[in-house]
Amino acid sequence: MTLDKHNEHETDFIGFLGEEAAEQVLPTQHVWRVLIVDDDTSVHQSIEFALRDVLILDRRLEFLNAHNAGEALEILRLERNIAAILLDVVMEHEHAGLALVKAIRNDLRITDTRIILHTGQPGFAPEISAIRDYDINDYRTKSELTRGHLYTCLASAVRAYRQIHAIERGRSQLRHIIQAGNALISEVDELAFVRGTLAQFASLLQCQAEGFVILGEAGAAYSQIQTIWASDAYSRYVGKSLEELDDKVVLECCCRVLEHEVIRWCQRGVALRIQAHDGHFLLLFVVSETLEPDLVDDSVIDTFVGHFASCLDNRALLERLHHDAYFDRLLGLPNRRNLTEQLDAAYQEHRHKPMVLSLIDIDHFGEINDALGQAFGDALLRALKERLRRSLPMQVSLARIAADVFAVLGEDSLVTPAILLPNFATPLAVLGEETMVSVSIGLTRLGDVETEGGAAALEAAFQALRQAKASQRGQLVWYTPELSRRTLERVTMLNGLRQSLRSTGLFVVFQPQVALGTGKLLGLEALVRWRTESGELIGPDRFIPVAEQSGLIRDIGYFVLREALSMLSFLHQHGVAGVRMAVNVSAVQFRQPDFLWRLKQVVAASGIDPHNLELEVTESVAMEHASYVHATLEAIRAQGIQLAIDDFGIGFSSLAQLKELKFDRLKIDRAFVQDLREGEIEASIAGVVIQLGQKLGIQVIAEGVETEEQAMLLQQLGCREAQGYLFGRPMTATDLLQWIQHRKAAEATDKG
Ligand code: C2E
Ligand code: CA
Ligand code: CA
Repeated sequence: MTLDKHNEHETDFIGFLGEEAAEQVLPTQHVWRVLIVDDDTSVHQSIEFALRDVLILDRRLEFLNAHNAGEALEILRLERNIAAILLDVVMEHEHAGLALVKAIRNDLRITDTRIILHTGQPGFAPEISAIRDYDINDYRTKSELTRGHLYTCLASAVRAYRQIHAIERGRSQLRHIIQAGNALISEVDELAFVRGTLAQFASLLQCQAEGFVILGEAGAAYSQIQTIWASDAYSRYVGKSLEELDDKVVLECCCRVLEHEVIRWCQRGVALRIQAHDGHFLLLFVVSETLEPDLVDDSVIDTFVGHFASCLDNRALLERLHHDAYFDRLLGLPNRRNLTEQLDAAYQEHRHKPMVLSLIDIDHFGEINDALGQAFGDALLRALKERLRRSLPMQVSLARIAADVFAVLGEDSLVTPAILLPNFATPLAVLGEETMVSVSIGLTRLGDVETEGGAAALEAAFQALRQAKASQRGQLVWYTPELSRRTLERVTMLNGLRQSLRSTGLFVVFQPQVALGTGKLLGLEALVRWRTESGELIGPDRFIPVAEQSGLIRDIGYFVLREALSMLSFLHQHGVAGVRMAVNVSAVQFRQPDFLWRLKQVVAASGIDPHNLELEVTESVAMEHASYVHATLEAIRAQGIQLAIDDFGIGFSSLAQLKELKFDRLKIDRAFVQDLREGEIEASIAGVVIQLGQKLGIQVIAEGVETEEQAMLLQQLGCREAQGYLFGRPMTATDLLQWIQHRKAAEATDKG
């Protein structure tokens, strides 16, 4: 949501440039105009012929023709934007050329047009003094005017012409800026001033006013230097601190300018610092990838910077800019930066008073904005601000620190759930609509935060808020050091996991699935393992949930899938065929829109027959009602891949859905296997699941089988497949191969 509603001021500011400035602007013609002055018609023809297809600085040439001084003056009176004149020195009389030059410079006062003199008669060269006085670019004898020479001297003349124009243009604009300066400061909206400054700078550079402006104070930390205005394309920068700029090139360029340079050009554009006497500065960044540094003269930049610096010295303006940097423009509430400073002060001043910071995040605000429009979103924020302000005592401060996040700071007896929550119990009137607003709330006692300071307190409150949102929308969570420890642990774990994915820290082990009775190897379950850099082995029960929260589970999931499939090839090479491979798929991974597509890719790349692959999904995924889940499950089966429901019996499977989606296998959860007792097996959950499987024609496998007794009971119930420590632990590839060979040898001796 943009907070800036001040477009109407833009025209005010640009308007003060005035007409005269506009006239000075280099016309946006697409040719360079060249006047040929020569009494010999054949010279006209040969020059035009020689240069007819030539491009100088991306433009063609357009020729104007005069055959004597009189005609030339006539043309020059009417046509102003002539880049260069190719002038014959000797025409009607031997001084006719120089007389014309004098008239052009002194009478017509044309100073920008470049003049190149030539003569057919050597010995008629003009005096050096004339060349200097009349600002003549070049002098040539006609014999020197080959195509090549003509081109080089015209090209340099055109370049000089353009440069003069840029400077002229800059100067005349600066004149106007200075004239209008004071009026501007007192009258115009401060953001319009900032925007106008950028527009002026951009026009000096002859490019679009695209970019952003940062306000800061000398010596401040980068986190305290903030973007206060940006053109539409960069609006994401507004309110962000310098360190939050996402473009490395731009950031580095800005930093250079902050540290020691006034202006700096980079691939993305130009940064310029305008510094007031009291240390405040504006940093302008004009974005343009096609800038030409030589367009602007250093002295123009100096004048520009000097003038705007003196505008900045105006205290009232700075105060208003400050207000903008510290207050949210939509609601007039303190912003994040302001709150951070209030928090800093609270640590200093209220040491003895217990204070509480609360963050209130409006649920689904983005969706509300999209569905009902920004005007509605703005009105909702206003209404909520009014209500909060009215319900909170004056000594409690209210701030808005993000589009949809309010902050409340005050003594602990004044900022409590009991005071905050009733604000959301009744509907708000928003544009005449009764609207219920649901929020998530994070709270922290300043004393509970380990590190003193505003930034740390805000971070703590945000941790609590994130927790509130994750656990269930519409919740309220208090920050505790425990929460912070868990967050830290999660972050450390994630970083470790990410690294291990690249090294060999993450690896996969395989646990046999066998036929009850014969003990024949039917399949394997791939189970991921993590050995941290310090050598500690961490179980998937601990790290999978963390990986799921961050999305890293996808990378881990595809890694396990690839490892599992290549294990099948490995076994094949060692003469073990017809074994099924079961791979666990996390619900998070399964719900990714590209899951099916990536699954197909990995399977195809492995060259493995899809029938040998089985995916284990949890009961909650299998029973989800969403139609895309059904479609995905069906598409997986259509590829020939088998599907198993993991930990079956824990969730609440619907019979109808079990019938409809044709699963290949139900896995009885380990807990139900451990519950098996002789004498009461018929009534056990394992028994019920096995019967259900038989009725629906779905295979049943029992996991976590540890004892002969469990195996026997399961077999009695009619279960045919099992997995557990009794048969084999999860093993690495080499151990598994040994396990297989060992069993083969045992079988052979049994038979013999
Ligand atoms: P799960 O899918 O139910 O996996 C079976 C778990 O039971 C495995 O624990 C296995 O080592 C253990 N187990 C096997 N036989 C016995 C037994 O006889 N007695 C006992 N007490 N335990 C037995 P593990 O490997 O620690 O995995 C735990 C859970 O982590 C898995 O439960 C699964 O939900 C998840 N997980 C493991 N690997 C992956 C993976 O690659 N991707 C995903 N998404 N989840 C995985
Ligand atoms: Ca499993
Ligand atoms: Ca299980």
